[in-house]
This record gives sequence, structure tokens and C-alpha cells, in this order.
Amino acid sequence: MKRTIFAVLNIWKTKSILWPISLLCKMAKCVITGYPRGLIVEPSQKCTGGCAQCSPALNPVNLSPELLKSWLASAPASPVTIHFSGKHSDPLASPNLKLLTQIATKFSSMVSISTIGLGMKPGDELLPVDRWIFSIPAATEKSWQELRGSNELSQVIENIRTVQQKSKAMTEVVFTIWKQSAQDLKTFEQLKQKENWHHTQIVFGRFDSEGNHFGRKENIALNHKDSPYSLKGNSLIRNYTPKNCPLVDYLFLDAAGTLWPCPFANEKSLGLVKPTRDSWKITKQWKKQKQQRVYPECKWCL
Ligand code: SF4
Repeated sequence: MKRTIFAVLNIWKTKSILWPISLLCKMAKCVITGYPRGLIVEPSQKCTGGCAQCSPALNPVNLSPELLKSWLASAPASPVTIHFSGKHSDPLASPNLKLLTQIATKFSSMVSISTIGLGMKPGDELLPVDRWIFSIPAATEKSWQELRGSNELSQVIENIRTVQQKSKAMTEVVFTIWKQSAQDLKTFEQLKQKENWHHTQIVFGRFDSEGNHFGRKENIALNHKDSPYSLKGNSLIRNYTPKNCPLVDYLFLDAAGTLWPCPFANEKSLGLVKPTRDSWKITKQWKKQKQQRVYPECKWCL
């Protein structure tokens, strides 16, 4: 919550003086009607990372701008925030990203992009978003190579610089600690000073129960003193029981245009494929399920 308030204050600097009023009106409508205030959107099933050991989608699809528009136009309460992100994929891989972000800005008050920062095309830095979140998995070339099987650190740093120089959007850098980069904290702090990264966050890599991303057991920083997971025999266990669902007020729209309770809970019977008011009404029932963390994936969710 603190992070969101901080982001709102930073984004306000780039908006009109009256922007908080429209933000509050949208927020009030979501609260009164009981609809979620945030939507996470996956623009593409493709990825720009090209990491060794990763199995990219065989026939990746891109979210069509028309479908995003249909979902947003049929929503009884427009989301306050729209966040473009990937799920074993990256938003920058979408050929439709400019149109998608333009549509998002029409319907919501804050638009952000979360990316691994690779595959930026000229002009991407000027996309109409309020916040760029670059996620880096390592702060040294050596640990990046060990984790991803290639070294793209300098390329990402260059792309962050381009956004910092040319975009008015807030730029945030998130360092995710994995087993291979658990010793990189000091270097990350030095990089932060050198590159003038004003907004940063440090998080632990998550266990991915689907097993097809970095969150495989062998990549989790289990030996770190603050690791959220540990090993019991050969089994991975979570070190504490989180109280709340971290995405209780968010929904997830995947690149195929299907709406889900969150990016992780994806049992086939849950997905909504028709962008209608009736579909949105069903999403209201998900809130209680999420609060009770009833989905199998909730077991691993921090
Ligand atoms: S997996 Fe469960 S706890 Fe995690 S975001 Fe989804 S609904 Fe919430």
C-alpha cells in the first residue's frame, strides 16, 4: 500500500492538478460496486529474454487491442490501474503495445508496464504509461550468466537509461534475489547510486509451481537468511503463512483475452472468455475465494 501511495504521488507530478479527483472518483466507484480496482494485462505470450532452460510458448498469441477495449468497455466500473505484465512472457514482445497502452490510458487513471527490459524498440520509451518497472534478476554479469545462460545486464541498464532520459514516467527497478544472485546486494546498491535509480525494490524470487520459469526449486535463494522458502528433506516449504491474497483487488487478462482471478490461479473452468457485463459480475464472486486463498496455487503465493 505504501508503495502504491508513493507511486501515486510521483505520478501526480506528471499529471494535471485535478487528476487526483478523477482517480478518487474511479476508486470510489470500484469500492461501492465491489469490482476490483486493478487489472493486470498480458500483452503477449512471447518473451524477449531468450534465456537458456526456458521453454517459450510454441504458438504464442498477442492480445488484440479490440479485445482489450471490449473487456474495458463492458466493465461496470473501469479499473483504476492497468498494469501490463508478462507470465513467462514480456509485454515488450507485443507488436500491439502502443495501441494497448493508448486504450488503457483512456479507461484507467494509472498505467504501468513491468518488463525484463529486453527487446526495446525505438519509440517504446515514449509509450503513454505512468510507470515503468524493470525487473532484473542479477546485478553482476557473472550471476546473470549463471542464472539465465546469457548476459544481458548492460543491455537492460542501457534501456533503463533511455527511459529515464526520454520518458516522464516514473521508473522503478526491482532486483529479484535468486540463488545465483544472492550475493549481489552490495553491487545492486552501487549500481543504484551510479545509475540514479531513485525508486528501487528488492524481492525474493518466487517458487513457480508450474516449474517452467526461473522459480524452479534449484533457483530459489534457499540459503539466504531471509528466504521465504526452505527445504524440509527434499520438499520445499514456505517459511510463513501470509494472511492475505496479494492480488485480492486485481484481475488478470491473458494474451488470449481470457479473464482470470489472478495470473497464477488458472484452472480451466475459471477462465471467462466473453467480454460482457455478466462475465464481470462473476468476477465479483472471486474476491471471497481469493481472500480465503482457496486455489491450489495459493499454497505458494507470497
Ligand atoms: S494464487 Fe491465490 S493468493 Fe495468490 S494471487 Fe492468486 S488468488 Fe491470490
